[in-house]
Amino acid sequence: MQGTMLYGPRDIRFEDRPEPTITKPTDAILRLSATCVCGSDLWPYRGIAEMKQPTPMGHEYCGIVEEVGKEVRNIKPGQFVVGSFATSDNTCLICKDGYQSSCLQREFMSAAQAPLLRVPLADGTLVATRDLPPKELIASLLATSDVLGTGWFAADAANVRPGRTAVVVGDGAVGLLAVLSAKQMGAERIIAMSRHGPRQKLAREFGATDIVTERGEEGIARIKDLTKGMGADSALECVGTQESMMQAIRSTRPGGFVSYVGVPHGVELHGEQLFYAEVHLHGGPAPVRRYLPELIGLVLNEKSNPGRVFDLMLPLNQVADGYRAMDERRAIKTLLRP
Ligand SMILES: [Zn+2]
Repeated sequence: MQGTMLYGPRDIRFEDRPEPTITKPTDAILRLSATCVCGSDLWPYRGIAEMKQPTPMGHEYCGIVEEVGKEVRNIKPGQFVVGSFATSDNTCLICKDGYQSSCLQREFMSAAQAPLLRVPLADGTLVATRDLPPKELIASLLATSDVLGTGWFAADAANVRPGRTAVVVGDGAVGLLAVLSAKQMGAERIIAMSRHGPRQKLAREFGATDIVTERGEEGIARIKDLTKGMGADSALECVGTQESMMQAIRSTRPGGFVSYVGVPHGVELHGEQLFYAEVHLHGGPAPVRRYLPELIGLVLNEKSNPGRVFDLMLPLNQVADGYRAMDERRAIKTLLRP
């Protein structure tokens, strides 16, 4: 088969790769229906996150089970499944507490930008649908695998509640789906911070009530203007830079909640600033597995259309174009069809 490899900054190659096989009795092999490029793939693509050797890419996936190892009990060949970017046994204490993305047996998925994928810990990682889903729902089901699951965690970890105000920092695909998640959790006012016309439009479609284009001190001042001078009840940080993290913390009222789901790059917190901000902080790699059954249900019942974030659909062999379009911000998110 052919799969996606990153060799160095802006050097994506679609090339011959060995077909994955069952290596542990708890593995499954999937034939992917769709995969995509993640905002976090852009960190190594841009050379900001260091890599030492050519690396297989991709960690968002859904598809049909081809084969399972002999200890796999619940997942069966022929089922349609969605899994998280982090594998989990779903039985350890940390999994039971709802933090499957830090499972004691966790592995981070890679190599999903390919037609076939090996998934370790299949029973604890994958969620199967009862029937094969209709084609038109595949993009939204794929979104639950990471980008929606992460946006949902951002809203949940920031304690978004009916009637409250949430500010979303970041207008990438995760930020946009954090807006959708906050809306579904009943936030009354959702302030999206975005300077980009098409993204503002999608944020509004997903439920944003206000758009703030300013950043830094001016951005914080605008949020305070909109919240009786106090700051928002919840801030959802969906980028991972120093600027975005401080934007989130300083836009939140004392006693409010800040979630952070963007992989941090060079973020450092100042103790005294943190002390007097008096906010709850909760974030990390999203425990997508916790939310998958609910999110898949919302998509199958057509209560949620997160697949709208994919504004570029390409055949998998044009994956390099998909990265380029996202890097140049011509596309919000690229879906790839094997
Ligand atoms: Zn576990």
